[in-house]
Amino acid sequence: MQIAVLGNEGSWYVDQLTVASHRRGHGCQRADFRRLMSRTGPQSAVFAEEDDLTRIDALIVRTMPPGSLEQVVYRMDVLHRLQSQGVTVLNSPRAVETAVDKFLTTAKLAATGLPTPRTIVCECSEQALTAFAELGGDVVVKPIFGSEGRGILRVSDPDLAHRTFRTLERLQAVLYLQEYIPHAGFDVRVLLLDGAPLGAVTRRNATDFRTNVARQGIAEPHEPTDGELEFARRAAQAVDACFAGIDLLYDPAGNPFVIEVNAVPGWRAFQKVTGVPVAERVIEYLERIRHESVR
Ligand code: ADP
Ligand code: MG
Repeated sequence: MQIAVLGNEGSWYVDQLTVASHRRGHGCQRADFRRLMSRTGPQSAVFAEEDDLTRIDALIVRTMPPGSLEQVVYRMDVLHRLQSQGVTVLNSPRAVETAVDKFLTTAKLAATGLPTPRTIVCECSEQALTAFAELGGDVVVKPIFGSEGRGILRVSDPDLAHRTFRTLERLQAVLYLQEYIPHAGFDVRVLLLDGAPLGAVTRRNATDFRTNVARQGIAEPHEPTDGELEFARRAAQAVDACFAGIDLLYDPAGNPFVIEVNAVPGWRAFQKVTGVPVAERVIEYLERIRHESVR
């Protein structure tokens, strides 16, 4: 197979995927979202430097760098185009599109009947203040696009709520408010590939309600319960993600909530504590489905 990885220069993940590809006898190259060039018409192609990506077998999306609306839309168009040309895109453009958008993801999870924290989204600070009261005066405010806990804050003071919402409104941000789940300082991350679990970890953080490893959360191996696996499968399916990281939180009564589905999931801490060779599994998966699609 010829594989390309859309990822940043020097990325540990690109390295892992490249080594795994080579070990299994495949070609693997890195491509940069910012340098994709498309042609239409008789010489229709998508170039990553000299190489035409429409001719490769599989493309792994390892990053979605921030950009303007135009840039993000163009990049998504390219992924759709490659997929329609027969390239296996992992995750699918539809999954990437959904999962980068916290509102769309939560809406889809809730629509399939999964338990999600009560969430209210608006653009106007007055409406946000009403929502703040309705959500119990203790909320988590999140950017719609974001990862690794960046820009997420907990607001439980009405004056601070007022100032925060006004500031965000002036910045033309969307106000995404979610009830705060008073968890016990950890969440569960299940890593799923093609509906099957690669494993799970808990991430514990004693100093920040955000349990992300990027926020100094500590990963520990975790044997997922049947219930957690069931939720993880349904959540991945709801956003159409094949390779997915699903985050679950428990409230003090032990009720689980699905917090997010990550369609570009990291696995560095996960691999360190579980020993699961994730890149190898991803490449094996691509071999399997390319083989099936040829037959
Ligand atoms: P990101 O994409 O930045 O990881 P998440 O929605 O997963 O965004 O939130 C980051 C972390 O913040 C979660 O892993 C969890 O620890 C914490 N968190 C998120 N939502 C809530 C919530 N509603 N209540 C309590 N903690 C939350
Ligand atoms: Mg998360």
